[in-house]
Amino acid sequence: MQKSIKIFITIIIIGISITIIGLLLYFNPDWPDNNDNDDRMFKRAHHRTYEGFEKDYNLEWKKDFFFIQAADPQYGLMEKLENPNLIISTNWTNERELLTKAIKQWNEMNPKPRFVVICGDLVNDPPFQNQTKRREQLNDLKKDLHQLDQSIPLILLPGNHDLMDKPTLESLKQYTDEFGDDYYSFWIDSIMFIVLNTQYYKNHDQMINEFNEQNKWIDEQLMDAKSNNYTHVIIFQHIPWFLKKIDEPDMDYNTIASKIRQPLMEKFIDANIHYIFAGHMHQNFEGEFFINDNRWLKMITTSAIGAQYHAIDTEPPSKSGYRIVNVTRTNIQQKYVQIEKE
Ligand SMILES: [Zn+2]
Repeated sequence: MQKSIKIFITIIIIGISITIIGLLLYFNPDWPDNNDNDDRMFKRAHHRTYEGFEKDYNLEWKKDFFFIQAADPQYGLMEKLENPNLIISTNWTNERELLTKAIKQWNEMNPKPRFVVICGDLVNDPPFQNQTKRREQLNDLKKDLHQLDQSIPLILLPGNHDLMDKPTLESLKQYTDEFGDDYYSFWIDSIMFIVLNTQYYKNHDQMINEFNEQNKWIDEQLMDAKSNNYTHVIIFQHIPWFLKKIDEPDMDYNTIASKIRQPLMEKFIDANIHYIFAGHMHQNFEGEFFINDNRWLKMITTSAIGAQYHAIDTEPPSKSGYRIVNVTRTNIQQKYVQIEKE
């Protein structure tokens, strides 16, 4: 046989083999559930940015878009609220149903959201208290989040139930092993998004280095925001800085202490930040820090996907839901949408 025919036949055999292997992988029902593939959608935050939304490639404004901001699916809390004496939660079916419904609504939107951000407290049982239940809650959460249309990036950040009220190196490692970086920034069409780990502002007794590192990193991000003319700069975090007014009294568990909050809010305003979105309260709030027409900042606290909690009884209770945030070149508008339609 001529040499060229041999080469031709070899190429054909290799081609057929690759196609068969590809088809086997594609139709093997176990394949989409393998661990590497599972993890990929949850671990796109690394090197202090988000894979696919790196600064260098996303500095050009294109067209209006919207994103979904949600918080606190917190698998396991509903049962605890109904039975305050319950030590270990065993059932989070209601939370699963709510998140699944919300994901279905996001998937059916046309056009689709540019991304979904879930601002912390992903499951209720914190690290090291009940590891078995926590693992079950995380497995179910991940299984449910897998229903999100693959074209919609999922942005995650840690809350107090993810890192514990007093975070430690071990609790941080549990989070980052599961979900990637705890703070980072990313860019979409010349909009800068800054994702913060607010747990260090609640307690950093065992995390002084990490707390200092985040502060230094925030200063660098704010310098960047100040010196570049980004279309908008938006912050996501778990615990709100304040609920309604910057000078409201400290609320211990609910918000960040005023002595930390006040100087940082001024830095944020100096860096042209107008919108901060948070969760944690399981109730909706819209607050504002207004200096003048150019220097102002809105603090939007979004209620939970999961359990609702009427923490501030002078304000109306909320129902499970999420925010739709519309972004144009000159404007940002947001509204809270309930998952269960009335
Ligand atoms: Zn929380």
